[in-house]
Amino acid sequence: MRLRELLLSVILLTIGFHPTAKADSKLTGTIIGSPAIDYSTGTMSTSVNTCEMAFDGKFSTFYASYDRSYTWVGLDLGTPHVITRVGWSPRSSNDGPSRVILGVFEGANREDFMDALPLYIIDERGTIGEMSFSDVDCSVGFRYVRYIGPSDVRCNIAELEFYGHEGAGDYSRLYRPTNLPLVTIHTQNGEIPYDKEHNIEAILTIIGTDGSILSEPGSIRERGNGSRTFPKRPYRIKFDKKQQVLDAPAKAKKWTLINNYGDKTLLRNLLAFELSRRMSMPYTPYAQSVDVLLNGEYKGNYQLCDQVEVNKKRVDIEEMTPQDNSGVALSGGYFFEIDAYASEGTSWFKSSQGNPVTVKSPSSDSITTEQFSYIKNHFNTMERQWNQYLDLNTFLRHFLVGELSGNTDTYWSVFMYKQRQNDTIFTGPVWDFDLAFENDKRTYPVTNKSDYVYRSGGSYTGNMKSFVDKIVISNVPAKKRMLEIWDEARQGGLTEEYLIAYTDSLSDMLQSSQRLNFLRWPIMNQKVHQNPTLWGSYDAEVENVRRFIQKRITWMDNKLGYEYISPTDSIAETTIPTNINYNRPYEVFRMNGQYCGHDLNMLPRGLYIVRQGLIRRKVEIGADGLR
Ligand code: CA
Repeated sequence: MRLRELLLSVILLTIGFHPTAKADSKLTGTIIGSPAIDYSTGTMSTSVNTCEMAFDGKFSTFYASYDRSYTWVGLDLGTPHVITRVGWSPRSSNDGPSRVILGVFEGANREDFMDALPLYIIDERGTIGEMSFSDVDCSVGFRYVRYIGPSDVRCNIAELEFYGHEGAGDYSRLYRPTNLPLVTIHTQNGEIPYDKEHNIEAILTIIGTDGSILSEPGSIRERGNGSRTFPKRPYRIKFDKKQQVLDAPAKAKKWTLINNYGDKTLLRNLLAFELSRRMSMPYTPYAQSVDVLLNGEYKGNYQLCDQVEVNKKRVDIEEMTPQDNSGVALSGGYFFEIDAYASEGTSWFKSSQGNPVTVKSPSSDSITTEQFSYIKNHFNTMERQWNQYLDLNTFLRHFLVGELSGNTDTYWSVFMYKQRQNDTIFTGPVWDFDLAFENDKRTYPVTNKSDYVYRSGGSYTGNMKSFVDKIVISNVPAKKRMLEIWDEARQGGLTEEYLIAYTDSLSDMLQSSQRLNFLRWPIMNQKVHQNPTLWGSYDAEVENVRRFIQKRITWMDNKLGYEYISPTDSIAETTIPTNINYNRPYEVFRMNGQYCGHDLNMLPRGLYIVRQGLIRRKVEIGADGLR
């Protein structure tokens, strides 16, 4: 009786653990992998350190690859298997245990692994003479499985084990190394992108936090200017067909992977884009932090971002054709960039006031002579008569984002566009904030300067400083408009509390990924790019940004001559005898306290409270205006 009860409970326990799963066993198959090296001769080997030695059950033998990076060893299982567990043991040598950190396990159903999905990434040291194991959380069945060594270690692995069961599986569970979406790219023949001109064929796979997967053919190349000089390269990916990516608004072929190498918080661009939205820029590029794998190697934390280009949900202007050479059709749309690197391209001009301009759309390979002359002439006209042809709203909002973030680079590169049948030139979107938020030794500390950062050592191209001066320093109506925009943003919620909370939410989101990123790029205690100071840890780097925000908002208020009073402050009418000066910014509230803008002329008839500094006055707008 006792024995029967015991047996029954064992059976129930077993069923309870795996109600539907088939039995998992250690899998065997044909051993596959990259060529091995004979260390004694430095040549390729078929007898020592071979792939077989990662599966011979001995901790004393190991596989080492001939090439230093992107090398791997694995199994052809013959049929698809769902992998439920992987095991590994490092090479028995001094640096063996650390050489498995950021090693990646993958599964695929194509022999060339171009459709591979990750199974697991190792994030800690191994133990010599022992197996380490991890469960695998991926429900897809794979015929081919492999282990890819981290960068620059010749794979070097003593033992590998794969466990699982036969079956095609399903896509209900996919693995991501952290809480962030994953971008995993596999190139044709394992070729690594090496410049900005050559697009390398690839399968681009993006796994969302909701478990969604997009896996489509496309290509990858490097991108960027200054940011391309760092060992962690920025990339441009391009799908063969337009794709909806994660929760991005645009359907598009081209997307960027921003490397954020010099920005050790990995969040400066994301934070600046929030400033752009708070400043009501008509278009702010989509950006999402992701982890990136390239051919199975972990490349770090990146920002998956819109390619800044003409698109209904990006720079929304008419796309020109080579037939648009006269009349209204010739008037746009044009997308261009005041650009320090303009002379490196082919479609550019120097304006009459000495500013280099790259024409981005129409593209250099399709733009006609008529179109090029048209935009060049129109830009020159705008420079002379900016009062008439420059859209102040976008120009000033762009300026305010640059100054609030303390961006040294604001006038190093400025995107602008012109629509068809509209003579106005608009500014935007904002872009490139790696040197903002106190991250540039040439302007550090920005908050100690009495003047704007663009006048205090900031980089600008051509004669942009004098162009900007004419507007934000010397022009009274422009300065009045700027104060109104600032007031609108401040009253609309651009506050220290909000920005600190937003920064904190970004840094929380990035915790797991930053850890992997700085394992891959151990530069936390090294000055890179224009880093002014070493803060020593990720959290201390974020704290530097937080401190800057706290000081900078007040700095901007003072600089602009603005007195911030929270919209939740009392709006009870005051008895201060001074009258409202309607030539200075003021805020308007309904009698119930609801904020309703900063311009009485825009409001319908009714009773309002107008607030200016400490003064609050009840006013009535009647049929014939203010009473
Ligand atoms: Ca071995």
